[in-house]
Amino acid sequence: MTADCLFCNILAGNIPCQKLGETKTVLAFSDINPQAPTHALVIHKTHTASLSETNENQLLGELLGGARDVAQQLELGDYRLVINNGAAAGQSVFHLHAHILAGRPLKWPPG
Ligand code: 5GP
Ligand code: ZN
Repeated sequence: MTADCLFCNILAGNIPCQKLGETKTVLAFSDINPQAPTHALVIHKTHTASLSETNENQLLGELLGGARDVAQQLELGDYRLVINNGAAAGQSVFHLHAHILAGRPLKWPPG
């Protein structure tokens, strides 16, 4: 738990979220500003700031596998998984998270 981290505070229950799924290691909840009919955020329960700032491959496997499991549980069919790494790439919350986007056609490349 990192006290000044928004997602750690969601994990701790200090800030409410719309929970979509949970395992021993990850939590999935709806993005507050959805960019698609389904827009889930998947976070690991251990704080790490960003993808490039961790070398914990077990954590990364749990995050990726957790995202797959949530997508399966939500019966999304096709979906896009996004990790923004660093501010210039769009990362605004520095607790590593994966976005799951689904429910509309998704263009490539993203903006
Ligand atoms: P990033 O821009 O870091 O890749 O993604 C952060 C995401 O967190 C954004 O899509 C933003 O809408 C979402 N977000 C920011 N604050 C909150 C919040 O308080 N609750 C929830 N559920 N999502 C949030
Ligand atoms: Zn955190």
